Amino acid sequence: MTPEQSKSDCIFCKIIGGEIASNIIYRDKDVVIFPDINPVAPVHLLVVPIKHIASLADMEESDAALVGKMVAAANKVAREQGLFKNGYRLTVNCGAYAGQVVWHLHMHLMGGRPLKWEN
Ligand code: 5GP
Ligand code: ZN
Repeated sequence: MTPEQSKSDCIFCKIIGGEIASNIIYRDKDVVIFPDINPVAPVHLLVVPIKHIASLADMEESDAALVGKMVAAANKVAREQGLFKNGYRLTVNCGAYAGQVVWHLHMHLMGGRPLKWEN
């Protein structure tokens, strides 16, 4: 996997660091969650580790707990957003064929309407 963006030029690192303003709705020592700038569902949030990892394919085994924390944080926010009743989707795009455009690992948390499976 060849990341197209270095850490110093990473839009999500800049959001995490406060260089670019965003409505961060969840933050702990490892994970932040903020709205996607181009939402495709009534709830469309990005679940982002504070550690810069370019893509899922660049995750190391030692990052396994961190990825688990991302899922736990996503679930917490999904519950707060009222998504537990009807369900929600947690998606990672990895690499070109999956349409990854931001090279800082993130999960899309989507819900609030029925979601089609497009592939
Ligand atoms: P992916 O890399 O998984 O394809 O998606 C990246 C997502 O980041 C896209 O859904 C896009 O709308 C979102 N995005 C791109 N730039 C920004 C930004 O500056 N702020 C926020 N909040 N989201 C962004
Ligand atoms: Zn980054």
